[in-house]
Amino acid sequence: MVQRVAVVGAGCSGLACIKCCLDEGLEPVCFESSDDIGGLWRFKEKPEPGRAKLYSTVVSNSSKEMMAYSDFPPPAHFPNNMHHTVVLQYLRLYAQHFSLLRHISFQTTVHSVQQRPDFSISGQWEVLTVGRDGEEETHVFDAVMVCSGHFTQPHLPLQDIKGIQTFNGRYFHSWEYSSAGGLEGKTVLVIGIGNSGGDIAVDVSRVAKQVFLSSRSGAWVVPRVGDGGLPVDVVSGIRLASLLMWLLPSWIDGVMKKKLNQRFNHRLYGLQPSHGIFSQLPVVNDDLPGRIISGRVVIKPNVKEFCGSSIVFEDGTVVDKMDVVIFATGYEYDFPFLPVALQTKAGHRLTLYKHVFPPSLEKATLAVVGFIHGLGSIIPLAEMQARWACLVFKGLRKLPPEKLMLQDIHSDTKRMHQRFACSERNPLQVDYIHYMEDVAQEVGVKPQLFSLLLREPALGLRVLLGPFTPYQYRLRGRGQWPGARHAIHTLWERIYCPFGTRLVPEPRPERKWPMFVFVALGASGVFLLCYTQRKHSAFH
Ligand code: FAD
Repeated sequence: MVQRVAVVGAGCSGLACIKCCLDEGLEPVCFESSDDIGGLWRFKEKPEPGRAKLYSTVVSNSSKEMMAYSDFPPPAHFPNNMHHTVVLQYLRLYAQHFSLLRHISFQTTVHSVQQRPDFSISGQWEVLTVGRDGEEETHVFDAVMVCSGHFTQPHLPLQDIKGIQTFNGRYFHSWEYSSAGGLEGKTVLVIGIGNSGGDIAVDVSRVAKQVFLSSRSGAWVVPRVGDGGLPVDVVSGIRLASLLMWLLPSWIDGVMKKKLNQRFNHRLYGLQPSHGIFSQLPVVNDDLPGRIISGRVVIKPNVKEFCGSSIVFEDGTVVDKMDVVIFATGYEYDFPFLPVALQTKAGHRLTLYKHVFPPSLEKATLAVVGFIHGLGSIIPLAEMQARWACLVFKGLRKLPPEKLMLQDIHSDTKRMHQRFACSERNPLQVDYIHYMEDVAQEVGVKPQLFSLLLREPALGLRVLLGPFTPYQYRLRGRGQWPGARHAIHTLWERIYCPFGTRLVPEPRPERKWPMFVFVALGASGVFLLCYTQRKHSAFH
């Protein structure tokens, strides 16, 4: 029976795993190679090999309510889209509240995870760790949860760039970028328009002489600030919208394109991609159009070649005297401590059943958590995966036979490749709401909408038509949380709270004269007119 569980990494996915293990009465031991929790969200000035890294200006793309753990709403006063320091603060509050730190062994790196010789019977793993002073230790665990992150291996495609060796300026990957310091007065080219490329171009354009942003395929740019100034994911991330998208995908795609083009015309700005809005994760950026319209960022096509300090683009244009090139060209993924046999691929993705379980294992005692992309936050996705994994470890949920899992992975990969622009750099993407519902079904916590609408119509309507928050998965079933109802009902209070920093009085309602006053006035006018006319004719 599974009891001791190794958790690799104490980022936001690892923390969710520790918490879920504790909820299920398992004994988690988390190994974290650094000296703190937070993973990507713990800002480091200098890049550390094998770890994700942020730049100093990063603000979360997802808003706080949409990236919350399902039983831990963020404090009401936290801003809706949080600076990375505030996200880390939230993770610290979570770890503190559920006493997670005592289960983490810091400065301990997992070097290998191997099946024990009796794996087919015991399902156990041998985990080799290296401590802060280089001391090696071998541990035996009943199960393993892999949460080592996936923005760790920068992809620098130098071999594809003709003439790069002739470039006499400086170049580096966005992973190494911390801030615009040092780029004052320089001419800078950012290659690649993902979220990092867009952010870095905006950031650098505030101090550089000129920034060029080169993109092969363009991108849809979505603001954080949605209609009425509310977080865009709160206004658009609703269950009903997902249902409409499923029923009428091209209509919704058209509506969304029109809406984004009303903000600024993507064709005019040289950003219009050929792909649909939902087939690739959009770039979340509020400032980019403003930097383009002011000429601080100039959009260019793909780079054809480097000639010394000149850059030739595919449209034949040339920019001379380039000082710095930043490659925002994405990441490779890698799990160096896992057996190679568990790292086979289906398309560009790993062969994992529902992106969690390697199907080839005789015992389902290893889960990959947080290795997923969707149009939504990773935290609720990882937490849902962790809840499922714990139940599978305990034998409370069964996985299908290997053959069926492989069939499912292959048909899912096919669907994914048809639906999304998957590639080596963008290996996997899921429909956020659909995937959450699918795994929630496995866990047994998917809201039963129909009966909820009958039993508690106000709550049911909030779940159906309101923001798709993670609290919805704590209303019933295993891990039910009594605070979930309250968290859903008070959601808007927490969203509005951080805006209340200068109270503006409600406008005085316009005084409206009731209709009968106008009717009475009109009637009196007519009466007076008739009366005076009569008097007038009697007199004559
Ligand atoms: P990580 O945060 O990378 O944590 C992995 C941890 O594992 C690290 O602490 C690492 O030290 C440790 N580790 C790795 N290998 C080992 C080992 N062998 N032994 C021991 N420890 C190990 N997601 C969102 O949901 N919302 C956003 O707004 C958002 N914005 C983003 C902005 C940027 C610029 C980037 C790059 C990503 C963003 N993401 C966002 C995605 C982000 O990756 C996830 O939010 C999250 O950080 C993933 O958490 P994780 O725990 O899976 O991995």
